[in-house]
Amino acid sequence: MSKGKVYLVGAGPGDVELITLKGFRLLAKADVILYDHLSSAGLLDFSAPSAELISVGKFAGKHTLPQEDINRLIVDKAKEGKIVVRLKGGDSYLFGRGSEEAEACFQGGVEFQVVPGVTSALAAPCYAGIPATDRDCTSDVAIVTGHRKAGDDKPIEIPKAGTVIFLMSVGNIKHIVNSLLDQGWPEDEMIAAVEKGTCYDQRVIKDTLGNFLKTAEKAKLRTPAIFIVGKVVQLQEKLDWFTPKPNVLVLGNHPERYTHLGNIVHRRVIDCVAIEDYSKVDLVVDKIADYDWIIFTSVNGAKHLFSRLNQKGLDTRELASLRIAAIGKTTAARLLEYGIIADVVPGNESSAGLLEEFAKIDMEGKKVLLPQAEFSTKELPEGLAGFGAEVEKLVVYRTVDIEPAEVDFDYIDAVLFTSGSTVRAFIKYFKEVPPGVKVYGLGEPTLAVAKEYNITGELMPKASDDQEKKI
Ligand code: SAH
Repeated sequence: MSKGKVYLVGAGPGDVELITLKGFRLLAKADVILYDHLSSAGLLDFSAPSAELISVGKFAGKHTLPQEDINRLIVDKAKEGKIVVRLKGGDSYLFGRGSEEAEACFQGGVEFQVVPGVTSALAAPCYAGIPATDRDCTSDVAIVTGHRKAGDDKPIEIPKAGTVIFLMSVGNIKHIVNSLLDQGWPEDEMIAAVEKGTCYDQRVIKDTLGNFLKTAEKAKLRTPAIFIVGKVVQLQEKLDWFTPKPNVLVLGNHPERYTHLGNIVHRRVIDCVAIEDYSKVDLVVDKIADYDWIIFTSVNGAKHLFSRLNQKGLDTRELASLRIAAIGKTTAARLLEYGIIADVVPGNESSAGLLEEFAKIDMEGKKVLLPQAEFSTKELPEGLAGFGAEVEKLVVYRTVDIEPAEVDFDYIDAVLFTSGSTVRAFIKYFKEVPPGVKVYGLGEPTLAVAKEYNITGELMPKASDDQEKKI
């Protein structure tokens, strides 16, 4: 049996993209992943399909699994020869009992490695527009835990630093503020709470030390949160770069394409998977040279058709005599990975755009292959048939629904539907678009599906060249 190994990986504070490259790579190759509530749920999407995912969730003081059991589980799984990733919120070691887990590996004779992470102590203030230090404010910073055992009401000793950051302190904030005031911090010094830092539902609540308790009570603080006190909090007004951007819920599978719209809140609702029976596809592949055109209307169409070709020991050379179209830049980019430069890529990335291009080409009697999903719109095949083409739709993959994680619509400014199936999935899981939430559709057919559910929206604004360069 191969030897197992444990990686304690810092998951970062919430924004999925704040995991390190090393952490991301390990996540994708782990056999077992142990995670808790503070780890960003979206990160698990990057795990291998065969990985065993174990929630050892700790939440607001409630332990699903006692620490000793977590330690034992980590060691036992490694002893079974598994690659174990223990995903820990923020940084692996900062206030997260990571060292106890590492010690358990040491005691158990299991090889381990620790991957640091972006800690919420610094990332939450950063996303709130508060630098931990600044030459004009202070050059020292202290990070402390405000957590105390129940019944312990001794004053909290505040370290001597220009900026003090408190973790695990929501339940103890009164005690902390009083300790700060008692230990010489002025009443007019600014303090900020950053809740759910780096997440779409981040909130910043700030006031002077003298007023903060009242303000915090009114705001009904949520966990997790950090508190930051010191002159640097005054910079927040100028440096708040994250909150002003709109939050856009995207249900499609490629959220990275839409960052020009704002902060993307991604929920996967659909997965594209192989179909069970490829016998029809095989028949078509055997006579593929008989076709004049293949039109790829999605990355998945390309992925699944080429995967089938490859399984049969064939490659792109089979398509040498065909002309090839892609619905848009992303699909064209995917085709390039197979060594294919698409002959037609419409500027208007939609079925309508493809039809505009094919209207300029003589399609009379031309045989066209459309590798698609089980359910797809009729607009393209009907339009092509209208030009005299012989169209054959070929099912190469199917979509399955995935239940998305919760969304707090109080923090959502817009929803982007990338296809008719994302509209249907949205209705299934979220029932309706709340009033005040804007709706974008990727193309007219998607907006038409939305209309069927009485949802009115507009076409998604395109990224300007300038925005594309920035992202
Ligand atoms: N190792 C973690 C800290 C674990 S202690 C890290 O480096 O971030 C848990 C505390 O972290 C919470 O009580 C809260 O104070 C803070 N915290 C974690 N995630 C947070 C977030 N997204 N926003 C604000 N505070 C967070």
